[in-house]
Amino acid sequence: MSDKELREKMLSYVRRLTDSGWLVGTSGNMSVRNEEDASFLITPSSIDYQEMEPEDLFLIKADGTIVPGTGRPTSSLAFHKRILSERPDCNVIIHTHAPYATAASTVAMEVPAVTFPAVCYLGGAIPVSEFADNGSEQEAHNIMEALGKTHQAVLMQNHGAVAIGKNLEDAWMNMAHLEECCKVWILAKSTGINPKSL
Ligand SMILES: [Zn+2]
Repeated sequence: MSDKELREKMLSYVRRLTDSGWLVGTSGNMSVRNEEDASFLITPSSIDYQEMEPEDLFLIKADGTIVPGTGRPTSSLAFHKRILSERPDCNVIIHTHAPYATAASTVAMEVPAVTFPAVCYLGGAIPVSEFADNGSEQEAHNIMEALGKTHQAVLMQNHGAVAIGKNLEDAWMNMAHLEECCKVWILAKSTGINPKSL
């Protein structure tokens, strides 16, 4: 896939973020690896998703060179870089503030796999990465530690969620499965009875 095609495909998913209910304003971000040359595209900071153009995306080459987009890259660049380098099975990363996932992240405990897709697609119970300053190397370290080699999604304590996947659709669905699992868990707990996990 050419750089132009990849930018356009990524933008079609970036625009879906606005309708997802998983964000407030310009929060959240996304990166997509180009499997052909190990570079990756990443969203810029503080640009309205509906108005974002293909040339606004930043290109990070395999040697770390940054080909400018518009403004500056997302403040979450450090953890995108870290995950892409340590998880060769992952080509796409999506970070959101999906409400049920973010609510669950404040409890700062693993969310049990209470839904079938959590078991099938996310790697079971959803881990939580310890809170660290936004965009810091410590944050990247904590997320990677929670994600490990097998999980497809992680909660960021008192912040939000990260889902990964081998392609855009996969990462998108993993974020949806994560939000659903957290929603079901919270609603089930509101009955006063502890939900069973799978
Ligand atoms: Zn965030």
